[in-house]
Amino acid sequence: MGALRTSVHPPGTAPDAYSDSATLALAAGVSLEHFARKHSLLPFYRTVSRAGDAGQRDTYSVETIGYFGTRSWRQSMAIFCPECIKEDEASPRGFAYWRRSHQLPGIPWCVKHGCQLANSPEGTKAFDLMPFPEMDAIFEYSEPEFIEVSTNPIVQRYASIAIAFLNAEVTTSDIHAQFRIAEQAKKHNLRVCKQGKRPTLTDRLLEQVPKYWLRTLYPDIDKHSSTEFFFPIDNVTVGMTAGTSYVLALATLFDSTEEALNYWRGDIEGLPTERKVQRSFGKDYWSSTEMFKLYVEHRGNYKSLSQALTISPSYLRPQLIAAGLPGLGLVNMNTTARAVLDFQAGMSLEAACASNGASRDEVEKLIRVGISKLSTAINEMSQSSPHKGKSPSNE
Ligand SMILES: [Zn+2]
Repeated sequence: MGALRTSVHPPGTAPDAYSDSATLALAAGVSLEHFARKHSLLPFYRTVSRAGDAGQRDTYSVETIGYFGTRSWRQSMAIFCPECIKEDEASPRGFAYWRRSHQLPGIPWCVKHGCQLANSPEGTKAFDLMPFPEMDAIFEYSEPEFIEVSTNPIVQRYASIAIAFLNAEVTTSDIHAQFRIAEQAKKHNLRVCKQGKRPTLTDRLLEQVPKYWLRTLYPDIDKHSSTEFFFPIDNVTVGMTAGTSYVLALATLFDSTEEALNYWRGDIEGLPTERKVQRSFGKDYWSSTEMFKLYVEHRGNYKSLSQALTISPSYLRPQLIAAGLPGLGLVNMNTTARAVLDFQAGMSLEAACASNGASRDEVEKLIRVGISKLSTAINEMSQSSPHKGKSPSNE
């Protein structure tokens, strides 16, 4: 790579002045955009673009290409097929090269040879040289695991859709992508919002593919508990995710690659063109019993409430304060909250604070918002408290 840099850039150019991709494009005599489309993983990772971004121009900006290049953000591996290398060496060309289709995450086999792909222990540093036959190799899977993964119909469909995305000429807008996946998920009776009990896309996938395969794409998958919204995958129906999640969703929601791609690339007529406006709730909602129950359930924590309602905390805050429900996220329930209750029961503010070891300022801040609803809420919280009777915590 160093030699290539000196030969294509003017003498004296700093080594980091151009990305590897820019250097390679220049050496190959093609535009950077052409290079990125044909030789990098960018079309896969950016298969969905944000509406309002000037679409593909943004996707193929010099900065983005320099960042993604031929390397994948997800992993620090250089992946190769030992069989392809042998064939390349025996070909008239006489040397082997790195193939971008081998670098796609989640496809552990060579499409041409069917054998398991190998990782170089040197990581992406290995890209600096052409691959060669005696290269050290690490294999992700044991033989039985590899057979299980490579014969799994969902993983196979994932692979063919991913390769189609890699070779695609166009990107899909995020609004259409979300809408399409959500519509299809609903047909399968899957949940497409954060709240609720029905299974999500992630739950469905975990039944269909080996977890150790999914873990190579989403290392956090072990933190997922059943029916919980797992953002890296389930957010595919709500916001932006990486290309991987769209491919996975299509692989699980359709019985064939062709069906999936036809649906994905179908006519956009009739699809929404704008994001739904932020959920707004009528004035009555904030003082409703439903809201009160939710407030108790989330222990007055504004952050957790705003997540549950999928609205921003800055929108939620004034509404709840107006409804007499102050934020309790930072309030000590063993001192401050108890002083509120004693005050409500008729004790003087001074005595209520002193007897509970509470700060007068903190208590005043709360009761200024309102006292009757708040004390009912605190009472209900203390009855349902999982930490009841525990000594005061420092949280
Ligand atoms: Zn091969």
